[in-house]
Amino acid sequence: MLQQTQAARVIVFYRSFLRRFPTVRKLASASPGSVLRTWKGLGYNMRALRLHATAVHVHRHQRGAFPTTVEGLMELPGIGPYTARAVAVFAYGRAEAVVDTNVQRILQRLHPRSSGRIDFQKLADRLLARRSPYDWNQAVMELGATICTPSSPRCHACPIAPYCPSAGKAARVASKAKSHERLHRGQPRRIYRGRVLALLLASDRPTTRTDRAIARVLFPNRSASDSRFIREVLVSLKKDGLVSLDTRRSVWKVRPLR
Ligand code: SF4
Repeated sequence: MLQQTQAARVIVFYRSFLRRFPTVRKLASASPGSVLRTWKGLGYNMRALRLHATAVHVHRHQRGAFPTTVEGLMELPGIGPYTARAVAVFAYGRAEAVVDTNVQRILQRLHPRSSGRIDFQKLADRLLARRSPYDWNQAVMELGATICTPSSPRCHACPIAPYCPSAGKAARVASKAKSHERLHRGQPRRIYRGRVLALLLASDRPTTRTDRAIARVLFPNRSASDSRFIREVLVSLKKDGLVSLDTRRSVWKVRPLR
């Protein structure tokens, strides 16, 4: 829930979500549609569906117990290396280094002359304080969020300034380029992915729709480019295994979870 949403906003949804789905079993046995309805107002619907898929996986394949290693966590749907490491270290105290954009920026500034691509994960693994991984990761992430910020780093207040070759000139050291996510009508594509899934999951019974019908709902005054865009979104969801196309009837539906 905290991905891309502020904690103060999340807390209300978090509490009501837990009231509705207090256990992994309850969440796993709910329909994706009812999970989405409980999520309503928090946005980025893909996160709700991933969470539900994870609960189903843990309930069916892990006897309701979450894996505690990075390798085990990465077998869960929608969990990549970053989330797996964050859960392993913050929930289970494992000696793993978490590399988010803040950490990456600090590492980049510590190695400003490094030519070619830096393997940030390897570098972070080498620096990790293995005896206190929780504190270490919290400290480095916090340093990036509050002091070694992208455009105005406060080097005068930085505890690692004596070791940092970028101290005092960091704003000129390029930080990681922002990803340029494709926008449509001013909104990122992931928003539309969530909306399309929400439409196909609007009721507890499986819903099928043609891409024209989906475009009609999302863009009442649609243009040819809106229709093309929706088709692209559906194809990308299909590629990720989230929807399937019945070619005989030209209708799309959400794929059943594993
Ligand atoms: S000295 Fe400046 S550039 Fe270096 S890590 Fe600290 S805040 Fe970032």
